[in-house]
Amino acid sequence: MDKTLGKVSSVSESLVGANHLDGPVMNGEIAYITIEGGKRLKAEVIEVKEGGKVFLQVFEDTSWVKVGDPIEFTGHPLTVTLGPGILGTVTDGLQNPLYELAKQEWFLERGLVVEPLDTDALWKFTPQVKKGDRVTGGTVLGHVPEKLFQHKIFVPFDLYGEYTIASIADAGEYTITDPIASIVDAEGKTRNLQMAFKWPVKKSMPFHIRSVPSKPLPTGIRILDSLFPIAYGGTACNPGPFGAGKTVLQHSLAKFSQADVVIVAACGERAGEAVEVFKDFPKLEDPRTGHSLMDRTYIVGNTSSMPVAAREASVYIATCVGEYYRKQGLDVLMLADSTSRWAQALRETSGRKEEIPGPEAFPMYISSLISAFYDRAGVEQLPDGSVGSFSIIGTVSPAGGNFDEPVTQATLLSTGCFWGLSRALSDARKYPAIDRLDSSSSYPSLLRREEVNALKALLREGKSIASNILLMGEKGITDETYIQYQKSELVDAVFLQQNSFHEVDGVTSPERLRMMFDMVWNIVDAPVTIKGKTEIRSHFNFLRQAFIDWNMLLPDDAGFENQEHQVLNLIKKGQHA
Ligand code: ADP
Ligand code: MG
Repeated sequence: MDKTLGKVSSVSESLVGANHLDGPVMNGEIAYITIEGGKRLKAEVIEVKEGGKVFLQVFEDTSWVKVGDPIEFTGHPLTVTLGPGILGTVTDGLQNPLYELAKQEWFLERGLVVEPLDTDALWKFTPQVKKGDRVTGGTVLGHVPEKLFQHKIFVPFDLYGEYTIASIADAGEYTITDPIASIVDAEGKTRNLQMAFKWPVKKSMPFHIRSVPSKPLPTGIRILDSLFPIAYGGTACNPGPFGAGKTVLQHSLAKFSQADVVIVAACGERAGEAVEVFKDFPKLEDPRTGHSLMDRTYIVGNTSSMPVAAREASVYIATCVGEYYRKQGLDVLMLADSTSRWAQALRETSGRKEEIPGPEAFPMYISSLISAFYDRAGVEQLPDGSVGSFSIIGTVSPAGGNFDEPVTQATLLSTGCFWGLSRALSDARKYPAIDRLDSSSSYPSLLRREEVNALKALLREGKSIASNILLMGEKGITDETYIQYQKSELVDAVFLQQNSFHEVDGVTSPERLRMMFDMVWNIVDAPVTIKGKTEIRSHFNFLRQAFIDWNMLLPDDAGFENQEHQVLNLIKKGQHA
């Protein structure tokens, strides 16, 4: 089939118009614009108009594009290459490996094309099917070891219907482009398969059997695991004003969550942050495996300095990789920071296309795009009986920290958790600054339901006493009420607050969470017989400090038990004052 050719007719930043087409063009197909000097810029068709005019969004700098430049349409949509070798890599939003690009003379030279996955690397393949076997899309042909996992090699998921294995490679070492199997369909047509295949990024991978997320995903962050838990396959919306701790929280989640694979989509918050992730992660050790954290991580990096169109692509590439590793039977967690930048990219493109704008100039379809994105998360029962999950946590950075704007609202409606970061809490340095009363989750907690309810009730009571104190002063309330207030403040300080940067306090295992909660509840349940506000305050100050010191020690550390006794003794002291 001949490729359709055309010419550039207009350039408006990343939006390029094309005419003089010599054939049909499809919405969503990829095209290349050849600029002076012969470089080819990748672009995507985003609108096909009546009368042979189309609009493309260009994924690269368009400064050198001129009216009349030739365009070649490929007939294919934007795809992601899926296969062994994704883990441990860092790519841009078009799956160009950044390490590979960095090796080239010009960092991110315009129009440079590099293979998404290493085509020279050899993988030790073990076949799992034999000649004559009946297979279909999603059947496992064999497996190769990839870092910590056995990576399954599938019949591509978009091959519907039944096929027969005509040939299958022997056990041995192969590259991702070597033929690994050939299959024949009912009409006798043969197809050759390789270990890697391409998938259109905007298409969600069909679930084999979808089930409801119900198992808590331990994150190591106490306020989440106890009050606002996420489940394997669940989704969370994490909005917050600038500087409230979204990125710190995302980094903690990436490092400590009990997921097999972590995908970080750093879509252009601040240029420096994406770079930080790249530098930080390879050096970090995975606390669960002792290997580099990168061995289970894939990072898609887009900085705010990259063209807007690439931000949208990065979200979709990351999502496809997430779905693919879910098909491997693994628990995948994706962190998207920040989805507002993606939405802003859509707004810019929509504006240039002169579409009818919705609220705050976002396109009308923004909420359906957001909900379709989060809908790609989920729990999947696979044909071999194993279960995989794909969880998505997206940050939202609403202008001025106003949660009423369209992106926060659409995300809120599409996700199972709401982790609202509060300016007041971050100003008071009460980290993580997740609002204790306004956040929510629809997933089960690591604690029992009664415990969660009791904890929330105490926090609400504490807040209402605090406003009474503000109104009437400490003198205006009884000692009993003051003790209740102090208990609520203590729970917040020793249990809900957590120093992300502390080696021990930064991550809490489910067992430790249980231990800490039991201790916290000892304190809440124990009567306090101390009289006088000053004395009560001083008692709780001691107790809080002793508890925090205990939080900084591991159960194996010398002094751990000693510190635990100090806390218990202080509780007793309060009872028998
Ligand atoms: P955002 O991404 O929302 O703009 P950041 O995540 O960059 O905000 O956080 C801003 C600053 O707040 C951090 O540099 C850090 O000093 C502090 N901070 C945030 N969360 C924590 C935490 N859990 N523990 C300690 N400090 C924190
Ligand atoms: Mg940030």
